[in-house]
Amino acid sequence: MKLYEPVTLAMPLAKEIGEFIRREGKLPSGDELREILKGLGLEEGCLDRGLALYRSRFVIALAFPRGETVVVDAISSSGELSDALEVIAYHDRKLGAFVVEILPTNDLEYEGNVGIEPIIVDEKTLELESNPVLGHFEEDEEGLFLVIERETYERWREEGDINICPICGGELAWKGERAYCQDCGYGVRVVKG
Ligand SMILES: [Zn+2]
Repeated sequence: MKLYEPVTLAMPLAKEIGEFIRREGKLPSGDELREILKGLGLEEGCLDRGLALYRSRFVIALAFPRGETVVVDAISSSGELSDALEVIAYHDRKLGAFVVEILPTNDLEYEGNVGIEPIIVDEKTLELESNPVLGHFEEDEEGLFLVIERETYERWREEGDINICPICGGELAWKGERAYCQDCGYGVRVVKG
């Protein structure tokens, strides 16, 4: 997997944390979060008083376990902050659910939600109660694509608007199983099966 920009880490990371919650019924601990981040291709840089730093060639991640909240900041290794994103996972007791969301640190860059909707998992049934559009990124001769599962696509098509780019909120143009965004330059591809 290629981690070129913060979003190429934030979206699969949010998805992995959501899957962890649905499997385990809890937020990942520091060690479990470390395994998830390493699984996404990041190297651990340093660990100090609960703060952990991870890096790949183009992206740096800072993980802050804050009691009942998991916070991971994804920043370009160039130090550029305009495309930095924060992945936040927490247990919302009032809502009776676990929530995972991706927040842009610069609101002006994004008109919609990154991933369309936050992940909302019922604390008791562990069922997914929202329709997030998340996946991982793959590169081919046509560019970089957010690869989503068919199930994710079907829910998105039924509950939302598949012409809105899940990465930037721009307009998507579909050609068969692939969509292209003029605004951010990323594409979306649906995995068959
Ligand atoms: Zn876009």
